Amino acid sequence: TERLKGQRAVVTAAAQGIGRATALAFAREGAEVIATDINAERLAELESEPGITTRRLDVRDGAAIAAFAQETGRADILFNCAGFVHSGTIMDCTEEEFDFAFELNVKSMYRMVRAFLPAMIDGGGGSIVNIASVASSVIAAPNRFVYGASKAAVIGLTKSVAADFVGQGIRANAICPGTVESPSLEDRMRATGDLDAARLAFAARQPMGRLGRPEEIAALAVYLAAPESGFVTGQAVSIDGGWTNI
Ligand code: NAD
Repeated sequence: TERLKGQRAVVTAAAQGIGRATALAFAREGAEVIATDINAERLAELESEPGITTRRLDVRDGAAIAAFAQETGRADILFNCAGFVHSGTIMDCTEEEFDFAFELNVKSMYRMVRAFLPAMIDGGGGSIVNIASVASSVIAAPNRFVYGASKAAVIGLTKSVAADFVGQGIRANAICPGTVESPSLEDRMRATGDLDAARLAFAARQPMGRLGRPEEIAALAVYLAAPESGFVTGQAVSIDGGWTNI
């Protein structure tokens, strides 16, 4: 049976990586998925997938988000996935980079939740799933200063929304992945100049000795989106190959 049958899901950053895998998993479970991303070209590859419609959306554009929510109406599931990794310590992070990281990783979620929450409440409730990271308030990763700070903020934002709207049928949870195969991770590994060494170093952080797969994160997203997780809210759920707890 389809676990998301009859539900309408909005997904950001759906063109690749975790967002794409989650849009596909939501659709496979019977949801009507609106897959969005700033990269219209890659997003178009999803057009032919049953249950998925695509729409270009820049989550740094507040007016675009408001217009999108207006035209979409009700969503039962909001999956906020857009985010960017800045590498470096506090001393490497300029004010521009700081503002960019918080705008893309955090303010985007503030805007998306504000835009979609009223109709979600009117419709009797819904599930909000935000992508944070274990590199956040869960654990410090070296050279992830503003990334970790912004992902910690995602956890705080998520818990706050969960607390304020628990009485109105809204659940909000964050997913905290360890290191997961994705196009941007591939770019970052290649940028080190030694792809194989970088891959080994990333895998070595996780006791399972491997990177996660986007489909594994998507499976948790389906669970948190679906009615079967109806007693789960305000959680930051780690999925990290054992990185943070063993
Ligand atoms: P990715 O980084 O390869 O892809 C990110 C997507 O976001 C791209 O399709 C890009 O076009 C889109 N995007 C960028 N700016 C945007 C904007 N302004 N508006 C809309 N879309 C925009 O994918 P990923 O590595 O799976 O990362 C997805 C999320 O998961 C991010 O929030 C990331 O921080 C988080 N995460 C990833 C990992 C990992 O190891 N891959 C680990 C923990 C958390």
